[in-house]
Amino acid sequence: MNQATATPAPALKLRTWCYAYPPRHYEISGCSCGNHDTTWSEFERHIWCQKCEKDFIPEHAGVFDGPIAIQTAAMLGLCFDRFNLQTQKLERFDLDQLAYVNEQGKLIEDLTAPAPAAEPT
Ligand SMILES: [Zn+2]
Repeated sequence: MNQATATPAPALKLRTWCYAYPPRHYEISGCSCGNHDTTWSEFERHIWCQKCEKDFIPEHAGVFDGPIAIQTAAMLGLCFDRFNLQTQKLERFDLDQLAYVNEQGKLIEDLTAPAPAAEPT
């Protein structure tokens, strides 16, 4: 068999941020070993199980599997604040602006914008 024709495994993309709360806060399914006390993996779309010491794709993504009514979710106590792994800073989700803001309240990312503007280089 020709090795060059084999389908390569999809490359894992490193996460640049994670939610401030662990996956169970968002009702994301736990590990197949029964551990629901998981954390965010360093890889996008993956969760980390400390018991099994493995990254895995959860069976379901909890509240992220459906459309999220943000105001309702907030009333239920869900928090979408996130931790920026590059800057090591907390980014607060502002419910009034539907956007991420930094510690000074300055807009970081507007989730209602159609597409992110290209950064000048
Ligand atoms: Zn496990």
